[in-house]
Amino acid sequence: MRRSFKFLLRPTGKQAAALAQCLEDHRELYNAALEHRRTAYRKAGVTVRYGEQSAELKHIRADDPGGQGRWSFSSQQATLRRLDKAYRAFFDRVKAGRTPGFPRFKGRGWFDTVEWPKDGDGCRWDSQPHHPAATYVRLQGIGHVRVHQHRRVLGTVKTISVKREGARWFVVLSCDEVPAPTLPATGAVAGVDVGVAWLATTSDGDHLDNQRHLATSASRLAAAQRKLAGKKRGSKRRGKAVARVAALHARVRRQRLDAAHKAALALVRGYDVIVHVALNVAGMTRRAAPKPDGEGGYLANGQSAKSGLNKSILDAGWSAFLTILSHKAESAGRQLIAVNPANTSRTCPRCGHCAKDNRVTQAVFRCTGCGFCGHADVNAAINILRAGLALREAARAA
Ligand SMILES: [Zn+2]
Repeated sequence: MRRSFKFLLRPTGKQAAALAQCLEDHRELYNAALEHRRTAYRKAGVTVRYGEQSAELKHIRADDPGGQGRWSFSSQQATLRRLDKAYRAFFDRVKAGRTPGFPRFKGRGWFDTVEWPKDGDGCRWDSQPHHPAATYVRLQGIGHVRVHQHRRVLGTVKTISVKREGARWFVVLSCDEVPAPTLPATGAVAGVDVGVAWLATTSDGDHLDNQRHLATSASRLAAAQRKLAGKKRGSKRRGKAVARVAALHARVRRQRLDAAHKAALALVRGYDVIVHVALNVAGMTRRAAPKPDGEGGYLANGQSAKSGLNKSILDAGWSAFLTILSHKAESAGRQLIAVNPANTSRTCPRCGHCAKDNRVTQAVFRCTGCGFCGHADVNAAINILRAGLALREAARAA
């Protein structure tokens, strides 16, 4: 199993300056290599490839010993490969008949990662193993940087990356041969429904993660976006408004991932078999269709900016949750079954009567056939569980 581990770096002032310089030089290398490819093509119709650019590196380094020459040859190659990858992706999209954007020059703030492709080559994880209290990573041209290692690293370190996020620096280790943790069998099975009020509800009646905090973030984000729309391009105030929107987006992302991890962990710990709805067939991201007004514009379609935002935040939360759940289930050896969500929210779990009117409100289910009453999400989760177990039986019989 391959896994990555991310830790906060605690560089000294001098090291932080060196990290910034390292990132900046790699950005310049990227842009220069892009310029090289573009000019060669424009002036001579020549396609420059990675191999040639990599061979050039030796001269670039020799000509600039105090600049580019300071950094790891391999990390520079990784940067050139990154450009190569951007080119390949561009041509793949062209081939697929789409009209992609050409690989772009990276502006300041748009290049935040340097990768060392091999531990031991211009970098060394745990470079002071005998230090009594702290962990260090050695980076060529920067030194032994202290790491806030808040958890154990498993497996073998393959690549080491340094990433800048705002004012902070992180090291990301990509590890191979990470042993999969296994959990003891519980003998329990569950259906799981995703919802608006709660991220997930189980067929046992447990509700996981109240989503109210997301609604709060969504209205803040909507307000920030409205403010941003009113600012003049290039103005200082616009810059601030952009930063505010970005910070709120990051906050929503953090909240969402945190909630998804917690909910998924609780499920994987508690159940051997977990059944959930297949989201891609649920049409959850479908929005109100735009209504052309006949004059090239659009009429209001009843979907306010805020509800659209709310919805996109919820949708993204569900898909993040199911992705994390599938990763955790796989590494814990749990079985995950996806079922078609059709009718799971409108079928009576007692008599099987299926009608739209059964769902009285977002939260209440009352069967118009037999009068059975229950929590709508719990009911859906029970139906989801039954559908999943039926699928499993059918698969066994086949
Ligand atoms: Zn019924």
